[in-house]
Amino acid sequence: MGSPVSPIVANLYMEEVERKALGSFKGRVPSHWYRYVDDTWVKIKTREVESFTAHINAVDKNIKFTREDTKDNCLPFLDCAVHIEENGNLNTEVYRKPTHTDQYLLFDSHHPLEHKLGVIRTLHHRAEHVPSKPQGKKKEHTRVKEALKTCGYPNWAFIKSAKMHRKEDQTPAREDKKDRRNNIVIPYVAGVSEKLRRVFSKHDIPVYFRPSNTLRHKLVHPKDKTPKHRLNNVVYAVQCSEECPDLYIGETKQPLHKRMAQHRRATSTGQDSAVHLHLKVKGHSFEDANVHILDREDRWFERGVKEAIYVHCERPSLNRGGGLRHQLSAIYNPVLSSLPRRLNAHSHPGPSDLRKSHDRVGPGFTMSSPETLADWGPHPLSHLGSCD
Ligand SMILES: [Zn+2]
Repeated sequence: MGSPVSPIVANLYMEEVERKALGSFKGRVPSHWYRYVDDTWVKIKTREVESFTAHINAVDKNIKFTREDTKDNCLPFLDCAVHIEENGNLNTEVYRKPTHTDQYLLFDSHHPLEHKLGVIRTLHHRAEHVPSKPQGKKKEHTRVKEALKTCGYPNWAFIKSAKMHRKEDQTPAREDKKDRRNNIVIPYVAGVSEKLRRVFSKHDIPVYFRPSNTLRHKLVHPKDKTPKHRLNNVVYAVQCSEECPDLYIGETKQPLHKRMAQHRRATSTGQDSAVHLHLKVKGHSFEDANVHILDREDRWFERGVKEAIYVHCERPSLNRGGGLRHQLSAIYNPVLSSLPRRLNAHSHPGPSDLRKSHDRVGPGFTMSSPETLADWGPHPLSHLGSCD
């Protein structure tokens, strides 16, 4: 899963499994079969349940079905609790797992207001559409309102959300949407992001916010971490040996260890990298463990910009003047100079020293902090989000 093609392929595969299972069953096949992705609602004669379960589980060795039977004439399906009434009618209500705690996005959390209004709208929409009876809808609306109030939602938020909802209903779908420029997504920082959106909207560019500092982001890592030396598309900083304060910042789309191997050897063109020249002249060496990943960026242009920003901020002694792919306009200087330095943080050269340092290979600045680069936490620039 993960690729946009995956659900389509999964659906095609499941359809084939179902076709085989339903077509080859010797008993009485289910009268109702409704599937949504991997959840299927089935109505079948009670006497056939066990044999059909065994049958469908024998159709494909890769696909195993688990079964949940009705309990007190109720069977949950997706987010609906479907009750079978005595007269045979079905009555639906909103289904919540027994472990559900009515905990929603807290109103005082650092998220854009529209996301919070979206929570209200989504829950109201569900309260309006899932329960099949008027009293069920009323009960659900009451429950939602109470849960959201516990999460800190004030009355005005409910009113505002309802107003936006009505407005959307009345506005005809915009035909000119296609003509609008690509939208951009920026990390949400309260107070700043809203201002940026106003600037962009003057140019008819829609801006969407993405919370960047979430618990999920910090805690959930579904895949094993790629070892650092195998990461690619990175902006990196090479710290020479611990005794040598010299620093180089570069970017590469290759796995880090390959790029480091290139730094260690001479090139056939004679255009040796600054790192190679330094190692040769000084007789130094560096460990891959002392290479710090400042940032990751898949896109070529953006990676070049990030490299230029890091070089500007960190002023690495081994970067030669002309080596950058991207030249930052001087217009960014006031912003960039307000960013904190993390590497060689205690040795600020003045602007004239900086010029010299670009031409000079050798010990330029001292690093008074004993840590290796690898000990630094996430770089302050690493939250520069992508705009996709
Ligand atoms: Zn060195």
